[in-house]
Amino acid sequence: MQAIDSYDFKGKRAIIRVDFNVPLNEKFEVTDDTRIRAAIPTIKKVLEKGGSVILMSHLGRPKKNNDDKFSLSHIVTAVEKRLGVKVMFAGDCMGEKAAEMAKNLKPGEVMLLENLRFYAEEEGKPRGLADDATDEEKAAAKKEVKASQKEFVKKLASYADVYINDAFGTAHRAHASTALIADYFPNDKMFGYVMNGELKAIDQVMESPARPFVAIIGGSKVSSKITIIEKLMEKVDSLIIGGGMTYTFMAAQGGKIGGSICEPDQFPVALSILAKAKEKGIKIVMAEDALCADAFSEDANTQVCPSNDIPDGWEGLDIGPKAKESFREHILGCKTILWNGPVGVFEMDKFAEGSKAVAVAIADATAKGAYSLIGGGDSVACINKFGLADKVSYVSTGGGALLEYMEGKELPGVAAIRK
Ligand code: AMP
Repeated sequence: MQAIDSYDFKGKRAIIRVDFNVPLNEKFEVTDDTRIRAAIPTIKKVLEKGGSVILMSHLGRPKKNNDDKFSLSHIVTAVEKRLGVKVMFAGDCMGEKAAEMAKNLKPGEVMLLENLRFYAEEEGKPRGLADDATDEEKAAAKKEVKASQKEFVKKLASYADVYINDAFGTAHRAHASTALIADYFPNDKMFGYVMNGELKAIDQVMESPARPFVAIIGGSKVSSKITIIEKLMEKVDSLIIGGGMTYTFMAAQGGKIGGSICEPDQFPVALSILAKAKEKGIKIVMAEDALCADAFSEDANTQVCPSNDIPDGWEGLDIGPKAKESFREHILGCKTILWNGPVGVFEMDKFAEGSKAVAVAIADATAKGAYSLIGGGDSVACINKFGLADKVSYVSTGGGALLEYMEGKELPGVAAIRK
């Protein structure tokens, strides 16, 4: 594996897997170019060092080739605007035009391939199988796509001299462009700056956190967070549990939770987390009060109740004022902070105050010298909603990839570069 800062790109064509999976409006304009901006430093580095660039990405989840809705042609202007360099659009990934364009690429030039997921070979999963396909038919289709995937990867690799993976968000997928292609560049493969930043931030938190280390885990369900909670319990000094999963914990301990979201099948898991925390001396901070509503709606009537004594007909949709205060105080006393998952239904302004208080406390702790990492789709949306993204140490771009990396799983996109 090579390092982007020291690699000699002079006269080399670099194929870069970026994450240009950006949101588009009905006029196919980019509505949030965060991911495009994130990719710019890596692209510029190659160009400044005398290389040329072939960009490749997926966009959305197209089910067939050439579905214009998902064409990367829509984002060319947005990339040019941020990069300040003309971007040539190849129109496909495999055709003559793409191959010619790559072959004729001169130092300083940039081209963009079409959406990789227009090709079933990118993910290596068969398409268009009938609903009633037999197991044999499924196996045959899979074999076929795997066989043509080899050609697909080989062709992509043939365009370039060096491979850079800068798409952390898809690093947990063993796809053609995220992992398989790396084999064609045994001595010329590396991470881009987005990848380096992500891995460094997560390693800092998981391997050598300044203490005390608190993880704030919110969201709706215990079941979707259990693996990460268990992993974090090997690392943290305290755990703030918020959001909808609070009520599963309350009910498991005999509390009354009215109509709040609850997973009774997770009661044993919740109780075992509490027992394990006690055994290991990990402090668990849970919301003692809740902002309750008589309907899951912005127009609902509200009242504050103890989180373990919510009347029938009411549900906890945010943390209450006492919890806001105790969460804040706890967060301010910590030196490493990881936040995954909102502590209320932050999409509705009426129930966003708790998550906002958490975001503000994290920003304040960061200003006092704590290291803070925000990750997982909804907490990122949350920190952006409150305009505090630049007041925390690091905002991760990879939801699923971040969680899998933290859980200790080997990400195919990372392993392919490191091996
Ligand atoms: P997750 O993807 O597991 O992080 O869950 C995020 C979702 O949890 C958001 O859409 C929130 O609206 C939701 N959520 C947070 N708190 C609650 C709550 N008290 N009741 C229901 N949903 C919640």
